Amino acid sequence: MAITPLMPVYPRSEVRPVRGEGAYLYGENGEKYLDFASGIAVNILGHGHPHVTKAIQDQAATLVHVSNLYGSPQGEAFAKRLTELTFADTVFFTNSGVEAVECAIKTARRYHHVHDQRHKHTLITFKQAFHGRTMATISATDQPKMIDGFSPLLPGFKVVEFDNLKAARAAMDENTAGFLVEPVQGEGGIRPASREFLQGLRDLCDEHDLMLIFDEVQCGVARSGQLYAYQHYGVTPDIMASAKGIGGGFPLGACLATEKAAAGMVIGTHGSTYGGNPLAMAAGQAVFDVVANDEFLAQVRATSDRLRAALEQMIPNHDHLFDSVRGLGLMLGVRLKSDSRAFVSYLRTRGILTVAAGDNVVRVLPPLNIEEHHIREFIDGLSAAAADYEVPEAA
Ligand code: PLP
Repeated sequence: MAITPLMPVYPRSEVRPVRGEGAYLYGENGEKYLDFASGIAVNILGHGHPHVTKAIQDQAATLVHVSNLYGSPQGEAFAKRLTELTFADTVFFTNSGVEAVECAIKTARRYHHVHDQRHKHTLITFKQAFHGRTMATISATDQPKMIDGFSPLLPGFKVVEFDNLKAARAAMDENTAGFLVEPVQGEGGIRPASREFLQGLRDLCDEHDLMLIFDEVQCGVARSGQLYAYQHYGVTPDIMASAKGIGGGFPLGACLATEKAAAGMVIGTHGSTYGGNPLAMAAGQAVFDVVANDEFLAQVRATSDRLRAALEQMIPNHDHLFDSVRGLGLMLGVRLKSDSRAFVSYLRTRGILTVAAGDNVVRVLPPLNIEEHHIREFIDGLSAAAADYEVPEAA
């Protein structure tokens, strides 16, 4: 048999972690890596954070799972916390980011359905976006690498240029249900939207009774330096998808909505076997115990300022390779003048983990609680790697 037991859909690297501690991962043979990838923006408190670990251990010993057919004191408590900290009035818990986006899409469609506006079923989405890998979320993109071979895609999505309000407005017609947008594109190359763009979408939604959906799966949960990136922009969505950092590594997502937006989400319209089970809620609460306060968020912003300044100071020394730095909070991107994938692989061989993204970007997504010495180690490692790196000839 030629196929591997793990379905071979990932280009898995030579890094084979078996243990983590804070901002470090350790491989099978004891190799040490500085983890500035954080499981792609997931391990926001690093590996083995004592408070999160203890909360999961205690809850695992108490009650792991019950059906959503029963009352959920654990889910009610975490949902209440989320609603108190955000624009939302209600929350549906999921196990992943894509399920949170899927719930957001369904919530928007149901809103128009129950208001007898059934023709309003199409969401306007944006180029280079990434919303996950279900049929609905790949249908929300136009990237060949995600959609090739999966036709027929679902109808009900129209893709236009990101951060271009004119294009978004021009795409609207009587079937428009709303907009689905990442305030900071992640996979697309760490591209923060402009405030004018997001505010413009908000205004169009208010004017035409449409739903504004923010996908904060990657940029949410303190990564931007605010609890959610929309709070940085001062533009409030009707519906928002959250995941990744929310469980600190435990599979957890959430679809948050206003009472108005959730008008159609009544009994029987949606569900999940595992979503919001007591173990997941314990993980989420423990993460929020640490991150959902002004002191932690201020610390993220200060760390971001220092890391960004260090990157900006360093990149002109290697201007054969580096182009620019961009991003928000600790969701930073270093744009290269050549393909970022090859350099990200090279960094791995030097014990530094980052993530490649679109537009030749190296994503820098450290745990949010890193310290000064981690920044120094990263910058020194990046600089030394850049000095030794031979840029591959363009194909
Ligand atoms: N939305 C965004 C913005 C993401 O970055 C991702 C994952 O990278 C997803 C949705 C999908 O999340 P998941 O892989 O947890 O399903």
